[in-house]
Amino acid sequence: MARVKHEVHYNVTSVDPPELVRFIKAIPEVRMDIPHYKDGSGPITMWNLIPRKMIPPTRLVRYCCEKLKESGGQGRLTVTGVRWDESLNRKKGHGVITEMTGSKKNRGLVLNDDNDEARRMVEMCYRTSKTILNPIVDWTDADVWEFIRAENIPYCGLYDEGYKRLGCIGCPMSTRQEQELEQYPKYKELYLKAFERMLKARKQNGKDDLTKENWSSPEGVYLWWLGKIPRTPHGQLYFDI
Ligand code: SF4
Repeated sequence: MARVKHEVHYNVTSVDPPELVRFIKAIPEVRMDIPHYKDGSGPITMWNLIPRKMIPPTRLVRYCCEKLKESGGQGRLTVTGVRWDESLNRKKGHGVITEMTGSKKNRGLVLNDDNDEARRMVEMCYRTSKTILNPIVDWTDADVWEFIRAENIPYCGLYDEGYKRLGCIGCPMSTRQEQELEQYPKYKELYLKAFERMLKARKQNGKDDLTKENWSSPEGVYLWWLGKIPRTPHGQLYFDI
């Protein structure tokens, strides 16, 4: 609308809902970016990342965001749609501009699509040499819907089916992780197969010391991953790798 020269990119994550992918594919100007391994071994998907990392993605170990979503935009101005209203951990007091540096101890690692309270309208990231602009960071859900309706902007039909947020199916950051996987059983199956390959990789790499008990089968890993059974007395809250 501002007539600013821009490109629209979508990082193919391999775990987005198929309805969302079809919706995005139908928009002619979108460039579909498939992340690739730097060693030339092919496209990066959640299904090959899990065995490579030898651990499922968790709230504490979110390697997938970095690999699946952060590969583009180096040296460019990246515009995102992150919003404080979608933050899981809402706090008061926002600035407008920040440098995405500072000690990890104080800030933690904030990724491009994190709807974190620490996000600012303009961000400079020395880790990825990107400048990130989040123009709707202070918009509420109601603001977004008002704008969509006023401008007659097309949107993915899943929102009409009750979805409030769309993103990777089975994301460990989601509060609906289990429901999403039940709604998309093919993805559940793909996670189980990836866990099976992960367990084999752990064994080959001498990590089978930790694959006893609940991690002895893909189903056990799956239940642990959903927080249903502890691998250790502390479940997902404890890592001894
Ligand atoms: S949104 Fe969740 S599942 Fe998707 S890449 Fe990021 S951490 Fe992984």
